[in-house]
Amino acid sequence: MSDLNYDVAVIGLGAMGAATLYQLAKRGVKVVGIDRFTPPHDQGSSHGDTRITRQAVGEGDAYAPLVRRAQQIWRELEAETGAELFEQCGVLVMTSSETATSHHGTADFTERTLSQARRYGIDHEALNAEQIRARFPQFAPVLDSATGYFEAGGGYVRPERCIATQLQLAHQHGAEVLTGVTVTGLDAHADYVDIQNSGTTLRAKRVIVSAGMWNAELLGAPFDRLLRVCRQKLYWFELAQPSIFPEKSPTFILAHGPTDEDLCYGFPPLPGENCMKIATEHYSSATTPQALEREVSAEECAEMFRTQLVGKIAGVLPRAVKTAVCTYTVTPDFHFIIDQHPTRPNITVVSACSGHGFKHSAAIGEALAQQVVDGHSELDLSAFSLERFAAGEATV
Ligand SMILES: Cc1cc2nc3c(=O)[nH]c(=O)nc-3n(C[C@H](O)[C@H](O)[C@H](O)COP(=O)(O)OP(=O)(O)OC[C@H]3O[C@@H](n4cnc5c(N)ncnc54)[C@H](O)[C@@H]3O)c2cc1C
Repeated sequence: MSDLNYDVAVIGLGAMGAATLYQLAKRGVKVVGIDRFTPPHDQGSSHGDTRITRQAVGEGDAYAPLVRRAQQIWRELEAETGAELFEQCGVLVMTSSETATSHHGTADFTERTLSQARRYGIDHEALNAEQIRARFPQFAPVLDSATGYFEAGGGYVRPERCIATQLQLAHQHGAEVLTGVTVTGLDAHADYVDIQNSGTTLRAKRVIVSAGMWNAELLGAPFDRLLRVCRQKLYWFELAQPSIFPEKSPTFILAHGPTDEDLCYGFPPLPGENCMKIATEHYSSATTPQALEREVSAEECAEMFRTQLVGKIAGVLPRAVKTAVCTYTVTPDFHFIIDQHPTRPNITVVSACSGHGFKHSAAIGEALAQQVVDGHSELDLSAFSLERFAAGEATV
């Protein structure tokens, strides 16, 4: 046992851990953050330059307050540090399909997004195909039956910068940050948890595990049954000159067929880059952190262009100038798990990915810190409890 004692240890300093560490340190909690790499890094789920953020969250009503608060926090962090974290370029969600569509396990994503925006009073425009083509010529190929949701308040955040900024502030507020340290085991007692790593054992009264795709291997049951790691590929395709895909265009989600994989999403070119980041989603096969294939092949680039761009998006050339591999850690219902460990109550588990967690991360970190300090959080996280898997079908 070591004499290194903390009130809280945060294990994993990606999107969720960096936000939590910062919020705890800001509140004066004696906290340590531990990561196996040196965040921000490109080995987990939080790299690749950009993440979409939107206030109307078609995945479910429980998310709307989270993203609203997260967007405020990004702005507060920008004001405090001068970092540029949130680009409010708008977001365009479209359905252009002869058949029903699905996204993150949610049917008719555009319609659900629209109806949530109406319910929550979020500024938006409902667009038909003609309006989409007139306003955004890069989407001229959409079907005549296409529908669109445009939210001017959405856009993208810069994940690496968000993580770096929060870690830096956490450090300034007194948090200890241990990088290059892999936690190998958690030994929970009534009043404390011993945290094993290759060098030493740390002790904390409470542990928050936000280890992304490594959550299951660190925690075992029931997380090894609930979490699937799915390999995702990011592509930066070259733009045609002169581009009809301008820097000042919105982020987008385009559902064009019946399954979650008949969908692409993308971003306007970043300043100075003549390429557009685009991706689709893969859920059909699972992998492990160790087995993850980290290279994207030329065949995968060609298939992406053929299935997700040709006839769907204009102004993009077939050459991928850059690629990356990232992972979704997916729960059975595509929603998050943010809850106490079922048998070790002084361990909180945060698995807020399923491919849509970043936009909420700043607010999740704040809510977790409030739970530690105040005993409860202003935002309601109960929709993300583990209980729903015991009870059967979940509604979020
Ligand atoms: C391709 C892709 C696109 C996405 N697009 C969007 C989007 O547009 N909008 C959106 O809102 N969300 C999006 N997401 C989801 C979002 O990025 C994730 O929800 C979020 O980044 C997950 O953060 P995390 O903290 O859970 O995991 P990570 O960021 O992976 O962090 C986990 C950390 O734990 C550390 N760690 C693991 N095991 C240990 C250990 N044993 N000891 C010490 N440290 C450990 C790792 O090194 C890592 O730093 C996307 C995800 C991907 C992969």
